[in-house]
Amino acid sequence: MTHYLARFRKVLGAVIATAVCFGAGATNSAAQQHDPAEPQQAHPRPKLLPRPAGGVARQSVDEKSMRALIEQLVACGTRLSLSSWSDPKRGIGCGRDRIVARFNEIAKESGGKLQVVVDKFDATSERTSGKPLPLESVYAILPGTDPALKKTVFIVSGHYDSRPSDVMNTEADAPGADDDASGVSVSVESARLLSKAAANGKGGYRATILFAAISGEEQGLLGGYRLLEWVKQQGYTIGGMLDDDIVGDDPSPGAPHRVRLFSGNGEIDDCDSPGRELARAIEEIDGRAAIRMIFRVDRYGRGGDHYPFYKAGLPAVRFTEPLEDYTHQHQTPRTENGVEYGDFAKYLNALFLGDVARDNAEALRQLALAPAPPTNAKLTGAVTPDAKVSWSAEEDSERAGFEILWRETTEARWEVYEFAASAGETVLHGVSTDNHFFAVRAVGKNGARSIAVPTEMERRPPPLPAGTKQ
Ligand SMILES: [Zn+2]
Repeated sequence: MTHYLARFRKVLGAVIATAVCFGAGATNSAAQQHDPAEPQQAHPRPKLLPRPAGGVARQSVDEKSMRALIEQLVACGTRLSLSSWSDPKRGIGCGRDRIVARFNEIAKESGGKLQVVVDKFDATSERTSGKPLPLESVYAILPGTDPALKKTVFIVSGHYDSRPSDVMNTEADAPGADDDASGVSVSVESARLLSKAAANGKGGYRATILFAAISGEEQGLLGGYRLLEWVKQQGYTIGGMLDDDIVGDDPSPGAPHRVRLFSGNGEIDDCDSPGRELARAIEEIDGRAAIRMIFRVDRYGRGGDHYPFYKAGLPAVRFTEPLEDYTHQHQTPRTENGVEYGDFAKYLNALFLGDVARDNAEALRQLALAPAPPTNAKLTGAVTPDAKVSWSAEEDSERAGFEILWRETTEARWEVYEFAASAGETVLHGVSTDNHFFAVRAVGKNGARSIAVPTEMERRPPPLPAGTKQ
């Protein structure tokens, strides 16, 4: 009884202390005070460079023109990928024209820095009746200014095709305001915010940024697969892919809420996917009050254009509104039993949508200002008192150095353990290889951070029973 009570007190004490610690911004719970401190000496507390100045201000987001674009897209009646590409008033071609026109306006304001491309391609799926379907996606490209980094591209994407209840019905209305004119408006507004800064001489993004409005999503992620192929054909390395799909509505009381940011686990034991690292980077840039990270590749039973990138092992994530209303998605407009179905612009929340645009633009800005992520990040020192972290990196005169990151294996987020001025090996004295995860990221002199690269440990599997082959 005494034993039980003592344990209960201990647990209760830990809960209270954890709550206190959390409020103070500490991440170690009181329970961990019963574990030996690592390292035995004091934890190094490196002085961290501040994040890059000149962030995208929330008030600079033009919600009115975002809304205007969404309404223009809805006015095309349907934007099913199987509908007309040539009718200027009804069908997906009408949607393409509106987006090209808006990107061209923005390109003009950017002093020609933004380049608009219409990518025509064919794709086949069950939802094209097994026949090649001609499709078009629109890309606006803001070239990077750094000779070494301009072939790295950060992508933000929304899909401009829409669908009624029946994904093969070319006649029914499919307004698609939230799914996904909202995501298109985020991509287009990010282009305006960032190319305007570039035109004012404030940008100078080291890497290239591609703002995409793609088609074929509802027919089977056809535009997403094509986008991946296209950027590879152009010789780009993909630094990160931000998919915005269903990001305009936030009807629950207390709105605006945090936007959900989905990232898949990846397929390597003891190590997260590049998409997870991108999600962590975005949350750090935009803050926990803005981003709700969800450690899952997507909502159950649904897919998005980040998926082809994720499956290719690339850093890709999906933004989606906090709590979806299924009467407003993939529904032919109608009223049944007093319930109105249809994806109309009237349901959108301009405040929430504007927040999502700012968060995307700021994440893209900081990522495109950052040095390249380190490569060959390795962890050695198993069965010794000290963990050793090593990595490689190309020369970069704009880089201040690297941050070695660690986290408890049960923690969601990295903490900076130490700063290292150059690539190579750093010994973490008194730190076990086995009690934390480790990663490295590059830091620019401007304070911009690359996404983190988790260390890999050379794996020596435990012995198998005698007589079995490895
Ligand atoms: Zn969608």
